[in-house]
Amino acid sequence: MVKENCGVVGIFSLDGANVIPMVIDSLRALQHRGQEAWGIAVPKKQPYKQLGLVSSSASEFDKITREYASPAAIGHVRYSTMGSSNLENAQPLKVKDLCIAHNGTIANVEELGAMVGGCTFTPQNASDTLVAAKRLVSLMTNNGKLGSALSILKNEMVGSFCFTFVSDDNAVYAARDPKGFRPMVIGHRKDMNTYIVASESSALVAVGAQLMRDVQPGELLKISNSGLECEMFSDEKTHAHCSFEFTYFAHPSSIMEGSNIYIARKKIGQFLAKKFPIRDADIVIPVPDSARPAALGYAQELGIQFEEGLLKDRYSRKGPLRSFIEPHQSDRVEINRWIIPITEVINGKHVVVVDDSLVRGTSSKAIIKALRRAGARKISMVITYPPIRFPCYAGIDFPSQEELVTFFDDDKLYTEEEITEKVRQIIGADFLGYNDAKNLADAVGMPVDSMCFTCSSGNYAPLGITPIFKSRAEIKGE
Ligand code: SF4
Repeated sequence: MVKENCGVVGIFSLDGANVIPMVIDSLRALQHRGQEAWGIAVPKKQPYKQLGLVSSSASEFDKITREYASPAAIGHVRYSTMGSSNLENAQPLKVKDLCIAHNGTIANVEELGAMVGGCTFTPQNASDTLVAAKRLVSLMTNNGKLGSALSILKNEMVGSFCFTFVSDDNAVYAARDPKGFRPMVIGHRKDMNTYIVASESSALVAVGAQLMRDVQPGELLKISNSGLECEMFSDEKTHAHCSFEFTYFAHPSSIMEGSNIYIARKKIGQFLAKKFPIRDADIVIPVPDSARPAALGYAQELGIQFEEGLLKDRYSRKGPLRSFIEPHQSDRVEINRWIIPITEVINGKHVVVVDDSLVRGTSSKAIIKALRRAGARKISMVITYPPIRFPCYAGIDFPSQEELVTFFDDDKLYTEEEITEKVRQIIGADFLGYNDAKNLADAVGMPVDSMCFTCSSGNYAPLGITPIFKSRAEIKGE
């Protein structure tokens, strides 16, 4: 089965302008959410899809803009949390007269598949998005309305979703799951009377639109020639906004649940400095790129020199990309090889290295080795996210527990301190300190119980499941 995190957009121009250039620009602004494939869809046509980065298809942009010209369109950038990275699994997908783009994960896809007449799921060729789309279309056939169909689907479906849809009758829709796991915002560009719904506000800025607000968890938006219409398909009151978006996934320029991500990350760094005040450090350096604001916040809070001690080689093949969301280990290693320490900054120093998360330990191990080679006297590592110990079934790629650096192949129950010590030894740091959920939520300014921390706590109540953990090979078909 294929499960997606990704970035989605939906754009509708009430002035009838061709929105395809806006879709392309907004997808480029969401590229950090998915580097594997991208696509667009307009009414009455099969979706256009390409593997790779949006910018890799730049020579095609004029042609695409002409051939798919439309005032209504949706778009998608893909990061596969499960399934093969091929064009067939890229989105948007089309079922009857509805095209769909999905950000999230559907955990009970086999069950849902049985409701649409049974599907054969193999890791390579089936998509949970396709199953959800088929189920939605069949529910709409019975009762006509997307809102009513979503209010049934939300009870049948386990997982997370932000959907954008475009229908053959020229309407764009957007829906966010009742818990609000994944982010979604709506904006408006006045001069073209054009609405844009997107995973993040960075996409709105890229097309000159003003942020109006977050799409509410459980809300369905319809944008057509009648304007913007909003309805709730769920009255769920408890939310579970993904905390990992705030430390790693989202773009620093984005505003999410009212907080700017850059400022939130800087505050996380400040709060982390209060939790772990390593005052005898000479310098604070970030692991590029997501940890940069947190490292700055940490350094400012303690009055320690902030330095860029590690730089990415932007000219290597994979250097500019994000290692965590690369689907293959070999690609992640290649990215990490091109993080280069600056010996003149590091040599002889007690270095505090700030990173956004510790997932597989691949990056941290390599970075600490590189810092030692560059002459670091002492290396303290602080992590802005709590220990990741459990797989995510709501759209982020922690598919198998045994891949996590916090997983130890014995039956012992470890305390958090013991886990931290074991991980410290594995990565080779002199000190390791993890953030905790409360500290992170306080820094972001959100109630801790309105955020999801399942990958750290193992509490799957927000999803309403008790998962049986599968290996990565079983899930991804590798
Ligand atoms: S389990 Fe972790 S990564 Fe997944 S939605 Fe929750 S906080 Fe985000």
